[in-house]
Amino acid sequence: MIVAQALFGVLLIAAIALFARNIRRVMRNINLGKPEIINDRKAERWRTMALVALGQSKMVVRPVAGFMHILIYVGFVIINLEVLEIVIDGLFGTHRIGAFLGGFYDLLIGSFEILAVGVLLACVVFITRRALLQLSRFHKPEMKGWPSKDAMIILVTEIALMGAFLKLNATDQVLAQRGIEHYTTAGSYPVSSMLQPFFSGMSDGTVLAFERFFWWFHILGILAFLNYLPYSKHFHIILAFPNVWYSKLEPRTLVSNMPRITGEVKSMIDPSVPPPEPATPRMVAGVEMTERFGAKDVFDLSWKSLLDAYSCTECGRCTSECPANLTGKLLSPRKIMMDTRDRLEEVGKAIDAKGKWEDDGKSLHSRISEEELWACTTCNACTQACPVNIDPVGIIMEMRRYKVMEESSTRPALTSMFNNVENNGAPWAFGPDKRMEWTAEG
Ligand code: SF4
Ligand code: SF4
Repeated sequence: MIVAQALFGVLLIAAIALFARNIRRVMRNINLGKPEIINDRKAERWRTMALVALGQSKMVVRPVAGFMHILIYVGFVIINLEVLEIVIDGLFGTHRIGAFLGGFYDLLIGSFEILAVGVLLACVVFITRRALLQLSRFHKPEMKGWPSKDAMIILVTEIALMGAFLKLNATDQVLAQRGIEHYTTAGSYPVSSMLQPFFSGMSDGTVLAFERFFWWFHILGILAFLNYLPYSKHFHIILAFPNVWYSKLEPRTLVSNMPRITGEVKSMIDPSVPPPEPATPRMVAGVEMTERFGAKDVFDLSWKSLLDAYSCTECGRCTSECPANLTGKLLSPRKIMMDTRDRLEEVGKAIDAKGKWEDDGKSLHSRISEEELWACTTCNACTQACPVNIDPVGIIMEMRRYKVMEESSTRPALTSMFNNVENNGAPWAFGPDKRMEWTAEG
């Protein structure tokens, strides 16, 4: 017993340390982005987080999928309360330490079991939907390969963990009923009691072996899952909360100005307004970053856009509402988020390997083409649909800005509009002296 406790303690500490290291790595990557202060309208931010992240208000727009997602989410979070007891029992060699709660403990264990069945069934439905129903949003080009496997790994792991939890309870209670030392009768078992007959014909030693197997499988599975999160789209179960808190509260269609350009224009219009101070270069990963117009790479995006990328659940609700995608254009807002995350991970790994950033000759534009960028109508249907308030349009606009302002690259249809703005102060091909003619009666 002492050996098992010590082994469990070592594994627990190792898993927590590894998770903390992964979190630090993700936070370092997010902080490669440009600083942006977001701490206004705090009450509204808490309300939005309670509604959208905790209450999952945007999920229920599609009621069946929304209900099942809530079931998995609530079930998984609440059942993990049970993990607290398992951890204490594992460390101190106790058994069902929470049993002193009496009737409340019965209620807790009973509801955990019912929720476990709910999670299990919802996962089976989701797997069936992905594998058999061929919903188009799950089979877009960006979902080929790892993203699709990742979703399946998560669902199968959840089924395995819930199954182990129920079988652990069943074997535990068989041992308790036989009066085996260390096992106490406590809790109520509305679901696992149905599994008990399967184990009741076995010898004490065999049931004990099964019980230990399910115990270790369940807890090690949870610790492994914890460390899988930062590499998976499932990371959103943690990041959805800060991501929604920091989300844009202004009207979605508001396009942010570049304060320095605004300052330059004001100074040009009114010579009494001094031109803005040149921006101080930022040190990022051992390198001095000069100010850019728009975004060439992840360093030029706000940290919030990078948090968005890590929070994306890859659900594809944005893409399924995107008019550009629906009309056969190359653009998929989900792909924009996935590409941003992939590029950020690539940059992060290169920094880890070399201790500082060295230009690798690639950028966000190596993954996201101009055709995708210019297909966006900025309608914001994607931001409206996103269940965790992600803003793909912000990234698209910054990347377009870079193309136009630093590379003078644009679409032919826009070139004459830009020339007109420059020459005539308006998008049309008429000088200011002709303006009154527009209003003349024809
Ligand atoms: S804003 Fe752009 S990316 Fe988003 S839905 Fe509209 S067209 Fe698609
Ligand atoms: S951006 Fe939002 S809606 Fe689009 S795939 Fe990611 S989580 Fe889903």
